[in-house]
Amino acid sequence: MLRLLIVLALLLGLLWWLRRRRRRARAEEPTLACDPLTVLQGNVHLYRRLPPALQERLLPRLQEFIRRIPFTGARGMQVTDEMRIIIAAQACIPTLGSEEYPFEALHGITLHPDEFLVEEQDEDESTGVVTEGYRALAGQSLDTDRVVLSWRDVQEAEVRDDGYNVVIHEITHFLEASRPGGDAAAHAALAASHAELCRAVDRGEPTLLDPYGAEDLTEFLAVAAEFFFERPRDLREQHPTLYVLLRDSFRLDPAEWPA
Ligand SMILES: [Zn+2]
Repeated sequence: MLRLLIVLALLLGLLWWLRRRRRRARAEEPTLACDPLTVLQGNVHLYRRLPPALQERLLPRLQEFIRRIPFTGARGMQVTDEMRIIIAAQACIPTLGSEEYPFEALHGITLHPDEFLVEEQDEDESTGVVTEGYRALAGQSLDTDRVVLSWRDVQEAEVRDDGYNVVIHEITHFLEASRPGGDAAAHAALAASHAELCRAVDRGEPTLLDPYGAEDLTEFLAVAAEFFFERPRDLREQHPTLYVLLRDSFRLDPAEWPA
C-alpha cells in the first residue's frame, strides 16, 4: 500500500512538472499574427539557405528577440509582425555560431519607412572650419542601445544581388560594440584587408566589396560581414584570408551552405 502511494505521488509530481514546463514554454513564445516559418520561407532568402540544424536554432532565438526587443515605427510607420520576423531573422542569423543570446544590451529597433536624415558635423582638416548639415542613412547603430533601419532598404536585401544587407551591417556594428577588444592577430589581418580595399579604391579599380568599406575599419568590418553572408562564395574566392577571419569570428561557414 505504501509503495502504491509513493508511486502515485511520484506520478502526480511528474504530471505537475510537465504541465508547468509546457505552460512556461508557451509563455516564452510571442503571440504573432502570422506563422514565422511561412514568413521566413517566403521573404528571407538567407533563411532558406541555412542548413536545417541552423534553421532549428534560429527559430527560438528569433522568438526571444521579438519577445524582448520593442520595435518602434517612426514617421507614421506601422510595424507589422511580418516586418518584425524578417528583421529579427536577419539580425539573429549572424549570431547562430554561438549558443548564447547576444542581444542583452539592445533596447530597441526603430523603423523608418525610407532613408532618414541625421545631423552631421564636418570639419575641414586644413582650415578647421566646421560645417553642419544632414546625411541620409539606410541604417544606424547607436552604441549598443538601439538600431535604426529604413524598411525600404531592409526589403532591398531580398531583391539586390550585390551583397547589400542593411540589417547584417548594423547588427555587425552592434556586435562589435558589445564585444570590444578581441584578438590582436585578427585585428591586424582585418586592418591589412581594409588597407587593400583602400588601395584599390584609390586606384579606381573595381572591387567586390562596397567601396564604402574603405571609410574606416569599423565600416569595413560591417561591409565585409554583408558580403560574408550575402555572397560567401565570391568572398571566399576573391578574399580567402578575410573569409577565414570572418568564418572564425562568426563561427559560421556560409560558403558551405546550400546554394
Ligand atoms: Zn556602418
